[in-house]
Order: sequence, then structure tokens, then C-alpha cells
Amino acid sequence: MFKAKKEIKRFENKIWLSSPTMHGDEIKYVTEAYETNWMSTVGQNINEVERLSAEYVGCKYAVALSAGTAALHLCTKLAGEKLYGMPKANEGALQGRKVFCSDVTFDATVNPIAYENGEAVFIDTERDTWNMDPAALEKAFELYPDVKLVVLVHLYGTPAKIDEIKAVCDRHGALIIEDAAESLGASYKGKQTGTFGDYNAISFNGNKIITGSSGGMFFTDSREDAEKVRKWSTQSREAAPWYQHEEIGYNYRMSNVIAGVVRGQLPYLDEHIAQKKAIYMRYKEGLKGLPVKMNPYDEKNSEPNFWLSCIIIDEDAMCKQVRSGQDVAYIAESGKSCPTEILEKLAEYNAEGRPVWKPMHAQPVYRMNAFITAQGNGRAKTNAYIEGGCEDVGMDIFQRGLCLPSDNKMTAEEQDVIIEIIRSCFE
Ligand SMILES: *Cc1c(COP(=O)(O)O)cnc(C)c1O
Repeated sequence: MFKAKKEIKRFENKIWLSSPTMHGDEIKYVTEAYETNWMSTVGQNINEVERLSAEYVGCKYAVALSAGTAALHLCTKLAGEKLYGMPKANEGALQGRKVFCSDVTFDATVNPIAYENGEAVFIDTERDTWNMDPAALEKAFELYPDVKLVVLVHLYGTPAKIDEIKAVCDRHGALIIEDAAESLGASYKGKQTGTFGDYNAISFNGNKIITGSSGGMFFTDSREDAEKVRKWSTQSREAAPWYQHEEIGYNYRMSNVIAGVVRGQLPYLDEHIAQKKAIYMRYKEGLKGLPVKMNPYDEKNSEPNFWLSCIIIDEDAMCKQVRSGQDVAYIAESGKSCPTEILEKLAEYNAEGRPVWKPMHAQPVYRMNAFITAQGNGRAKTNAYIEGGCEDVGMDIFQRGLCLPSDNKMTAEEQDVIIEIIRSCFE
């Protein structure tokens, strides 16, 4: 029998995954920078965004930087020097040392370890929040007891199992770098992410929940660390009448123009979170009855910022999908679907989704790095998802999961159409 389908019209204006949402104050502060000629890496906008963001997350010091990646890099340098002392000339702060790191994430989380000649060891993901698995982390310390540093991400704005991770780190005397780039405004047991680590970073990149078009921030309660980061970020100038340098420096300071955009954005963080949460809840409701689940979070202990809404398709509702290094193919099947089919269908209607971050252990650039699952060495099991064994949790989430359009300017009506499109994939 023929089923009359409701016709879905292509969106006239593209529905984005997550695009900047401006409010008007941004241009006011940018203009102020221009008109007062503070067009450099010094100025009132920088002072204000540092003050406002430290106050918001509840830490003593914030240092505004050119990018989240720059913040993470300087976190890595601080940690390396604290653990191993000042590096020798031509050596990195982590020189040859292993660092445990979240696996399902953007590569900006991991690259700073390589910048400092360290070696990332990837820790598998748990299913409750899609973040670092404390059990796999414990296993990693059994295998590499000398490791003293962990880089922890809160994926898509969902806080990780912070208490459990911290307990494992404390037991092994390891420091934590917290990558809260995606989770600004998210909290865990009432405390903001970006304040749990020994060193903390956030990002103001163009698609984050608050943006300066670019930019990042380092958070700390240590005055000494804040001063070091500020100095390193401005080419490590000493307090001398001429350009005196005793250490290697970086050009990582935030521009006062960029800071003007961030300054205009920050008062809208809570509004953005409320919009993102409404989008998440609307998907959750609208997708009921389909063989999919939303990206999960600890409803009792955490409040995500809901930066991106994601789904994962039930195993038995997956049609066949094969991904190689650069290509993908799938075989459509009635009643079933896969991330590729949904992403292609969304694109067809002028809406933008995205695959879940491909796990770092599966990236060619990190193919030689160790990968530890809750069961032990994960390199032996990287293809387990094919058999449905799924011990490689990160790869399983990558295969079955996708990020949905989560733009906070998307209307409820537009989102209903997105939901309709996803539903049509399972017909
Ligand atoms: C965006 C992002 C970064 C990097 O921030 P930039 O400001 O783009 O340098 C780091 N880690 C994660 C998890 C991110 O999503």
C-alpha cells in the first residue's frame, strides 16, 4: 500500500549546526576599541572579559588568549614544568612523557601534548556521558604507573564523571588539565566546568556557545600561574626597559577587538544555554518512538550547557554503513538508518549536522599512540564494534552517533521539520 507522505520543503535559509548569535552589544564594544584606538592586545575589553568570565565560573584569575588551543598549550606547559621542571633548550615541557587524554574529542585537545613533545595515551569513553571512562583511566594507570597528567574533556557541553576521574587521579598523584572548550556554563554538583582542573581552558571559537569569532581563556586560582600564562602569551617579556627574554614566548594574547565581541556576548550565556536546552528537550520529545537516544548526561549531578544535541541509533536499527579513511557508503534499509543517511538527508534539505568526533586513537596522525579501554589495551580490539562487541566504546559512538542541527536561532517550527526529516529516514 502507498503511504501518503507529508511533503517536506527544503529550507530556504540554511539551518546550521551551531553558528554565532550576535546581540548588538558586540559592535558597541568593538567600536569603542576602535574609537579609543585600543586596537591591540591591551585594553578595557580584555580587562572586562577576564573579570566577567572569572566571576561567572567562580575562579580567581582568567587570562584572555587568542584561542582555546593556545590556552590548552599553556596549560600543558604549566603542567610539564610543575611535574618535570624547566625543559632544556630544544626540548618540550613533556619531553617523551605519556599523558592520558580523552579520546572522543576535537584534535585541539590533544595536539598541545605533541607541541611539548609528549605522547598522548587515549582513554576510552563511557556510555553515561560520552566522556573519559574512569574505569579505563584506572586501567591505564595500572599499565603506565608513572603517568602524572590527564587531559579531560566535557564533550558537547556535557560534564564528565568528574568525581570519579578526580578520585582516580588523586590516587595516582596525577594533575588534570580540564578542556572545557565546549562546556562553558555547564556545571557539575553546582560548580562550573573549567574550575575542576589544576589547569583549565575554554574557547570562544566561532561555533561555541559564546564566541569572539575566535579566542580562548585560561582559568586558575593560582596568581603565579596566571602571571606566567600572561607573560608567556606576550612573548615572555621581562620587566626591563628593553626587550629582555629569559624564556621562550608566544604571541597568544587576545586582541582587544575580539575581546569586544566576547564582552558583548557574555551577558547572553545563560540565554544561549536556555535556548540550547530547549532544543535538546524538543528533540528528545520529538524523536520518541524512534530507535534512537539523545546524548546522555547525569541528570542528578550535572547541568550541561547543551551546546550540541546528538543522537545515537540503536544497534539493531543501524543499516549497513562502512567508513574508510575518507569515504563512506551505506545500504538503505526499510525501518533502519545510519548517521550517513541522516546527515545526507539533512544536507539535502539545507540543514547541517555532523558526525560525532572521530576518536583520536583512530586518527592516522595518532595511530602509533596507545589506546586503553576498561578491559585493557584497546589496540587489539579496535574493530570490535563491527561484531557488535562494542568494547571500543568511542568507535561505537562514532559509528552510530551524530550531531543534529543545534543552532539557537532555529525556530521550533524549523526544528519540527528537522525531526520530520529524521523520522523519514527510518521509514
Ligand atoms: C573548540 C575546541 C577546542 C579549541 O578551541 P579553539 O578556540 O578553536 O582553539 C579545544 N577543545 C575542544 C574540545 C574544542 O571543542
